[in-house]
Formats: sequence, C-alpha cells, structure tokens
Amino acid sequence: MAALMKDSIAQTPRIVIAIDGPAGAGKSTIGKRLAARLGALYIDTGAMYRAVALKSFRLGVLEPSSAPEPLLPEQEAKLAEIAQGMKISLAGDPFHLQVLADCEDVSQEIRMPAVSRYASIVSAVAGVRAALVEQQRRMGATGTVVMDGRDIGTAVFPDADVKFFLDASVETRTERRYAEQRARGIECTREETRLDVLERDRRDYNRPVSPLRRADDAIWLDTSALSPEETLEKMLALIHQRLSVRG
Ligand code: C5P
Repeated sequence: MAALMKDSIAQTPRIVIAIDGPAGAGKSTIGKRLAARLGALYIDTGAMYRAVALKSFRLGVLEPSSAPEPLLPEQEAKLAEIAQGMKISLAGDPFHLQVLADCEDVSQEIRMPAVSRYASIVSAVAGVRAALVEQQRRMGATGTVVMDGRDIGTAVFPDADVKFFLDASVETRTERRYAEQRARGIECTREETRLDVLERDRRDYNRPVSPLRRADDAIWLDTSALSPEETLEKMLALIHQRLSVRG
C-alpha cells in the first residue's frame, strides 16, 4: 500500500491533504505519519497559533493568570500586529518538527497548557487568522503537503485534493491529551485536561471567524475505537480511492 501510494502521489504534481478536527482527535499523530508515508511536507498550523499566543504573553498583551475574555479592541489590534510581524517556520522532518518563531526554537514552550488555552483565544481574532492563513498558504504552496488544523479544508485550502475531519469522543480525546501531557512531563489531572478540551471545543466551534466545522466534501472519521495504525491505513486507502476516481 505504501509503495502504491508513493507511486500514485509521485505521478501527481502536487497534492494537498487537509486534516481538521477538534483537540485530541488524532490530527497531528496521524498527520505526521501520513506525511512520512507520502513523502509530503507536514504543517502543524496549531503550532503557529500557539507561537502567537506565546509571544503575546511575553509582550504582556495577554496575562496567563487573569480571566482573558472578552478581549479588548486594543488587545485584538495588538495581537493582529504581532501575528503580522512574526516569522514562523517549521523545520525538520514530521517526527522531529521544530517550531521557530522569529528564529527562536519554541517547540517545547508552545505545548504548555496555558499556551493551549490562549491559542484558542488568540485564534478567534480575525487579524491573527488573516496573517497566519496567508503564511500557511505560502508554506503549503511548495509541494505535496499534509496540513492539520481547524479550518484547512474550509478556509486555508478549500480546494484541497483530499479533506478529512477527524473526531473522537470527549473521553477518548481527554485520555489522549492527558497521556501526551504526562509524557511531556507536564503536571495536570485528568479532570483539568477534560475541562481544557471542552473549553477549547466551545471556543473553536463557536467563534464567528472560521469556526471549526467539517467541510461539505470532507471525509468524517471517528477515531475513538481506532489505533493510529488503523486510522492511517484507512486514510491511505481513502486517499488512494479519491485520487484514482479523479484520475
Ligand atoms: O491543534 P492545536 O491544539 O495545537 O491548536 C491550538 C489552537 O489553535 C486550537 O485550539 C485552535 O483554537 C487554534 N487553531 C485554529 N486554526 C487552526 C489550527 C489551530 O484556530 N488551523
């Protein structure tokens, strides 16, 4: 299957695979593996919103400890300015992705729970989205790409060749996020993780600008009962099917 996929991909000049879905649905785990199997570039767009959130803390635009919402108009303007002026790049292979913000490696710091929370606040600001979407389109224009996020199939690449919407139950997503944070050495309880997942769902599904939703032509996949390997194989088969139907 892998050889078949690589062959069929190689015959096509440029393929864009969009993966959207809520936190913990498996987007980045699968996105990385998929990119490696297809020999594609992997772009984690969530890392870019996280990088903007981190810089906003550092500049004091957002306060990690205080109640952040609603944002003031001047905070929104400042956040958009930060996103517009920032150079975010993703270096390395899919499994050793380095997130560089203005040339500084922020790969570890952007995974802190406070940054996750603030990324979903920052990402609701229209000016922030406009700046990052433009960068994402440029990054994705260079070759075959697997891009994951919340609005890839609906806003960043509405013409993507194959779109997936990955989902899973709140329990499964909480367990995955909890295990991930523990593996990173981040102290947290299951309940804190569950509340964080629910809070981010609320914001991501309900914001006025590019809310999280499945594109009409996206393939919906519930990964709750699937291992990463099973999800990957299903997705590879579906990609193959879609591309061969298209010819
Ligand atoms: O995917 P990840 O959990 O790293 O994303 C962090 C946050 O960034 C999400 O909760 C979401 O609010 C925001 N995001 C977004 N659009 C994307 C990717 C991420 O709004 N394309």
